[in-house]
Amino acid sequence: MSTAGQVIRCKAAVAWESGKPLSIEEVEVAPPQKDEVRIKILFTSLCHTDVYFWDAKGQNPLFPRILGHEAGGIVESVGEGVTDLKPGDHVLPIFTGECKECPHCLSEESNMCDLLRINTDRVGMINDGKSRFSINGKPIYHFLGTSTFSEYTVVHVGQVAKINPHAPLDKVCVLSCGMSTGFGATVNVAKPKKGQSVAIFGLGAVGLAAAEGARVSGASRIIGIDLNPSRFEQAKKFGVTDFVNPKDYNKPVQEVIVEMTGGGVDRSVECTGSIQAMISAFECVHDGWGVAVLVGVPNKDDAFKTHPVNLLNEKTLKGTFFGNYKPRSDIPAVVEKYMNKELELDKFITHTVPFSEINKAFELMLAGEGLRCVIRMDT
Ligand code: NAD
Ligand code: ZN
Repeated sequence: MSTAGQVIRCKAAVAWESGKPLSIEEVEVAPPQKDEVRIKILFTSLCHTDVYFWDAKGQNPLFPRILGHEAGGIVESVGEGVTDLKPGDHVLPIFTGECKECPHCLSEESNMCDLLRINTDRVGMINDGKSRFSINGKPIYHFLGTSTFSEYTVVHVGQVAKINPHAPLDKVCVLSCGMSTGFGATVNVAKPKKGQSVAIFGLGAVGLAAAEGARVSGASRIIGIDLNPSRFEQAKKFGVTDFVNPKDYNKPVQEVIVEMTGGGVDRSVECTGSIQAMISAFECVHDGWGVAVLVGVPNKDDAFKTHPVNLLNEKTLKGTFFGNYKPRSDIPAVVEKYMNKELELDKFITHTVPFSEINKAFELMLAGEGLRCVIRMDT
């Protein structure tokens, strides 16, 4: 029996207040409206960005909220005006969108869509500002337009990438955020040349995906920097050649890297969310040609401080959301890279838990254990 046009009752993990374990609740999910799609989520995984907004120490606390943005699922029904997706399509919801009409979407260089670019404070749908989730008539906020910690969610069509239906959703779900972000930050933004050196700050899943991008680009040396030394063993499998723990030195880590490399690295990619690491990632690149790319999500009051002479000395500072990929146009091809074995994803998935144990995924991330924990919705 079709559920199209009807309210669906299903389970969702609701964050009622900051830092408290999520609770699995029965929620009502309204049908998709104009330009919206309702998706049955099959697999979702946890990214550090979810943890920041759940913990809400450095971000605006907006609760009750359904978090989650890295996921894979199947279209259940579509709203008015949706022509390029239909029930049964396999999709990845994406935290930033592509309207295909604005100056950014028409530019080859940008993925900062005017209509659908990431907005961490938006709690309703663009159409009417309202939530499609409720419990006993009380609205529950959306997160990043995706809210994938729910068996069903409603997403704007511009935030949905339609992918090869043969791609295993339990694996390619990690391309919905982390792996595309890190890989794209290196190959699309830092763009190391063959034989160059690359420093990666933060060896979580995003950083190791950035390292994978460096390896594929033919980097000669990949220097991994992390405060958690238990990250180093794992990172060896991702082609990281040198390891630096800032805690082992009594001088700024950028100085250590400049010394190690005889003047600085050619490229650096910051994947930590720490403002200190962002500054170090910029200051450790070689003058004249070095490029640093920021990926980590900062706290809302952070400010980047460096001496302007670093810029005069021809070091370049960049930043990127989602590895500069346009979600609808580019992600299907990244999925094909996995299908053709040009890109490995399985090694990023270190844990799997049933939906009922979603809080375990938070515990693992807070303990700095593993890379990606995939949450199976069907159990
Ligand atoms: P993670 O927690 O798995 O990994 C982060 C790593 O950084 C950890 O190993 C931690 O020990 C290390 N770290 C923290 N502070 C450090 C410091 N000062 N110096 C060196 N290492 C440090 O997180 P993740 O899921 O891999 O995400 C990484 C970052 O990327 C987060 O900030 C996340 O919010 C951000 N992110 C950004 C985008 C984007 O589009 N720009 C997309 C996804 C995630
Ligand atoms: Zn656009």
